[in-house]
Amino acid sequence: MRTKINEIKNNCDVEISGFVDKIRDQKSMQFIIIRDLYGAVQITVDKTAKQNLLPTTEQLTVNSFVTIKGKAVENPYVKLGGKEIIPDEIKIDSIAETLPIDEESNIDQKLDYRWVDLRQPKNSLMMKVQTLFTRTVREFLFEQDFVEFHSPKIISQPSESGSDLFTLDYFGDKAYLTQSPQFYKQMAIASGLEKVFETGPVFRAEKSFTSRHATEFTGIDIEMANIYDVEEIMQFEEQMIAGALNAVKEKYGEEIEKIFGIEFNVPTLPFPRIKMKDAVEILQDLDFDIEFGEDFSTEQEKALGEYLIKKNKHEFYFITDYPAEIRAFYHMRDEKNPLIAKGYDLYWKGIEITTGAIREHRYDKLVAQTIERGNSTEKLQFYLDFFKYGCPAHGGFGIGLDRITMLLLGIASIKEAMFVFRGPTRIKP
Ligand code: ATP
Repeated sequence: MRTKINEIKNNCDVEISGFVDKIRDQKSMQFIIIRDLYGAVQITVDKTAKQNLLPTTEQLTVNSFVTIKGKAVENPYVKLGGKEIIPDEIKIDSIAETLPIDEESNIDQKLDYRWVDLRQPKNSLMMKVQTLFTRTVREFLFEQDFVEFHSPKIISQPSESGSDLFTLDYFGDKAYLTQSPQFYKQMAIASGLEKVFETGPVFRAEKSFTSRHATEFTGIDIEMANIYDVEEIMQFEEQMIAGALNAVKEKYGEEIEKIFGIEFNVPTLPFPRIKMKDAVEILQDLDFDIEFGEDFSTEQEKALGEYLIKKNKHEFYFITDYPAEIRAFYHMRDEKNPLIAKGYDLYWKGIEITTGAIREHRYDKLVAQTIERGNSTEKLQFYLDFFKYGCPAHGGFGIGLDRITMLLLGIASIKEAMFVFRGPTRIKP
């Protein structure tokens, strides 16, 4: 039975499988480093004692995949964990050609050979961290009786503005790839499912070449019934995120520090909150040309982030009380001030990671907001119908998982913070 490399015990017979990481050939000895997902170990071949293995080891190339049976023994001179494996059998499962990329390759060359690039310990750690983050989030949700749904990704009508949709031919008709499961999570609420979530692909046909945009990414979408106050949603989200980051810190904190060189702190609760109008005032004081009612530019977002993080000594902040006119038409308006939407954006290290809101669930008001924002009620009728036959008050939020991974590990671009990146000029592998 195969042993994971990190679980090898001294003075035991082991069978390991992994990629050849390094080969050091000396006159009488050969040292082969084997790496699997869990660690690396040295295989020590005494050329005189193990002559039968030489025809195999001579063929070996770096990155070939091998299975080795042998004995693990203690050796304090071996830097890699003070142990080595004395092999009895070496089987080559697959021979590797010379790699097309190395550490010097640029990001695009690396992405061309993403499966090779992902073998780097830094990238496998990234994947493990992302797995634990999502797993903890899911457990948090399951503990509270959330129902998981899987909404269709081929849709007939856009859920947001429509400008960033990929179109496709659907048996002669026009269809789109969904840019958010928004309508379906609200449908799930109207279906009486009360607390729902989905993790799934989200498509955006935006020609953005920033470090934080992809044309396909993974969204974690959450919606809850019987919620009236946006504060409740923010409290729910901050607990969920802090809990997931705490789990990551406990399991991978040290490794993250060693490999990514960042000290990663679990955020304290509550995260700071700031109203849009106060954020605008800060920007005006910083000499930016912005009025309440306008959305932030990228520069303004950046400057505001730097200011708030420094002032609050906290990497996260919620911005609330946005003008309704720059938010989605289905956000509920504040009862006291209908020009304000009951929603928020959550930022981490100055980058938006979430949009959340209370939704308008009252049919007549929703129709009025749809018209006011210049949307076609005819086209959106299928969505509006969700609210015609009884529906609880509800709210929720959507998180971009890849942005979280990027920020958590201090990775410079989202391209390297996801399994396979999709961008305006990248659709392979
Ligand atoms: P941005 O203003 O940064 O383009 P957005 O306002 O379009 O984001 P939403 O539609 O609110 O974002 O989507 C919810 C979340 O999904 C965002 O907070 C972000 O974490 C993530 N997200 C949005 N667009 C992208 C993208 N193109 N690539 C990766 N993640 C994204």
